[in-house]
Amino acid sequence: MKKKKMIILSGPSGSGKTTISNYLLSKIPDLKFSISCTTRNIRNKEKHGKDYYFISVKTFISKIKKSQFVEWEEVYPRVFYGTLKSEIYRIWKENKHILFDIDVKGGLKLKQQFPNNSLSIFIMVNSIKKLRKRLIFRNSENEEKINLRLNKAKKEQEYAKKFDFVILNIDLLKAKKQVTKLVSKFIHHNNNE
Ligand code: 5GP
Repeated sequence: MKKKKMIILSGPSGSGKTTISNYLLSKIPDLKFSISCTTRNIRNKEKHGKDYYFISVKTFISKIKKSQFVEWEEVYPRVFYGTLKSEIYRIWKENKHILFDIDVKGGLKLKQQFPNNSLSIFIMVNSIKKLRKRLIFRNSENEEKINLRLNKAKKEQEYAKKFDFVILNIDLLKAKKQVTKLVSKFIHHNNNE
């Protein structure tokens, strides 16, 4: 039986963590993505049950009341994101390790709840200016939402030191490789206990 582990990938919106997380999933077959619930609108190419469980605010609140989340956050005003407890059981039952792509506060909450079997990695950007460019290039948010994400990013960068590792994403390929190395080492260490 494998020791069940968690990889927590956090960092500002636009830091490249979703790209890095997809790379990790393609390189490490023992890793499975934790599908979060969100109340935000679905974007082009996204799929319900693959990228997120897209649910209404009403359904989200009912899940909070039923204590179905291991953590949840109002990441942006009136936009909720959360990790279901059932998601963790589902993946561990498949005998896989879990990968979370999650905001900074949620990431720290998970680390607190699972201190011994989790690895937390913060993906850092070297400048907010570059982050703005990436968010504009991504073309999924309007100006107002981009500013909201940038303001949040400035605050989030201050939490970096609370993570096990910080990876600076200047060169995406280099960042992908650094993260993969850390994750492989972590999941293969003491894995037969
Ligand atoms: P996006 O709207 O760009 O997909 O995600 C916005 C932010 O919410 C990202 O930082 C993402 O990592 C975070 N996020 C995604 N799922 C969860 C979750 O389950 N809990 C928390 N706290 N944040 C999440």
